[in-house]
Amino acid sequence: MMYDTLIVGGQYPNFETGKLERAEIALKDGKIADLLPAGERPQAGQVIEAAGKVVSPGFIDLHMHEEEFKNGSHSYDIAQYMARQGVTTCVAGNCGQQNHPIARFRAILEENGGAPVNYILLAGYNSIREGEGLGWYDAITPERQAVILEKLNKELRDGAWGVSFGLEYSPGISALEMTRAVEAVKGYDPFVSIHFRADCEGCMDSLKEMARLSRDTGCRVQVSHLSSLAGTARNMPASLEYLAGEMKENPLLGYDTYPYCAFCTGIGTAVFDMDWREKWGVDYDIILLLHEPYAGQRCTKELYEKVRRETPEAHVVAFAMDEESIRAAIAHPMGLLGSDGGIADGMSHPRSAGTFPRILGKYVREEKALTLMEALDKMTRRAAERVGLSAKGQVKPGLDADLVIFDPDTIADGAEFTDITLPNRGIDAVLVAGQTVVEHNALTGALPGRFLSRKG
Ligand SMILES: [Zn+2]
Repeated sequence: MMYDTLIVGGQYPNFETGKLERAEIALKDGKIADLLPAGERPQAGQVIEAAGKVVSPGFIDLHMHEEEFKNGSHSYDIAQYMARQGVTTCVAGNCGQQNHPIARFRAILEENGGAPVNYILLAGYNSIREGEGLGWYDAITPERQAVILEKLNKELRDGAWGVSFGLEYSPGISALEMTRAVEAVKGYDPFVSIHFRADCEGCMDSLKEMARLSRDTGCRVQVSHLSSLAGTARNMPASLEYLAGEMKENPLLGYDTYPYCAFCTGIGTAVFDMDWREKWGVDYDIILLLHEPYAGQRCTKELYEKVRRETPEAHVVAFAMDEESIRAAIAHPMGLLGSDGGIADGMSHPRSAGTFPRILGKYVREEKALTLMEALDKMTRRAAERVGLSAKGQVKPGLDADLVIFDPDTIADGAEFTDITLPNRGIDAVLVAGQTVVEHNALTGALPGRFLSRKG
């Protein structure tokens, strides 16, 4: 057989043996066709040299925020950062926020002839609710609920993979309202992701609310970005202990987390409605501004109040979490990973660009918080299983040729809080469906990524 591509000299993670193993990896028609004994050189359209490198399944980002195609724009921003860090499939539409109806997002991808990465989209419950005129603190009425559930159902019919909630952003969403929404789409076996209701003192109750939803509905529930819920020494140990106990009894429950001590959100959101300085035990200077003319500046009381009043839509970074808690959430054997990446009007956080290489460089190689195989398993096989992607997540014949080739000795994140465009290191190439989308940090322009519909 004439293969399309042969990747030679590399090692791939074999999750059955728990080891990196040598093989020549042959690709054909977008799939992994064969794993051949080291040294074999059958005919192929192209050969990719990978000596000394790991050939991993492409990373699956369980939690990110899709692009907002504004004013008719069809150009990708976040997808490019995803591809450049080795991500080949993204789960978007998180935290209750959906930038476009599913049908529109799908149509844009089709009009573009594809995307740099594969997309899974969740229906954002907050977005649907706000679209019906409900304010953040408003309680639902039966009439409004009926309309919202019909819209939610339409999103699932159109191919949404599940539904997301952002309880902190719309405190008016009660536990009962949320349960009714999940029950209404239960027939789709939805993936349900939840941005918690309250951190700090509210942390344990928030976890319990999410665990209860999973038990009551029998649906998968994903606790989103655990680090931003419980990212301090006061909360992380107890949160991990609670989650581990609950997940043992109910495997439908899970969590993801990202590797930075700061979160990023809109300065005008409900997150900042309460006395957050007291709650987190911090001062205004934990907030880093991202928009001009203040980009790169830390807040004072005056600046904070001015920006919140004048540009509530501005995204800001808040250094509210501690390193030890972040590390514990990443390393915990039951946890999975997601970047929480996204770009709002050009404003972003380095997690959008560096999450996966940062885990492999900082937490695996430098700090040895977890092994390379453990980290890759979380990023690929286990993430695919969690979402329900049977053709992805492993280097095996018959599976999709979504791959990332990297050097385990040098891989590292480049993005910084003041400049997320700095390139990652150690990633040679990223392939989606057998096509190279990134070569040495540069996008090739190929758009083999597709919208992955729950209904196939
Ligand atoms: Zn969130």
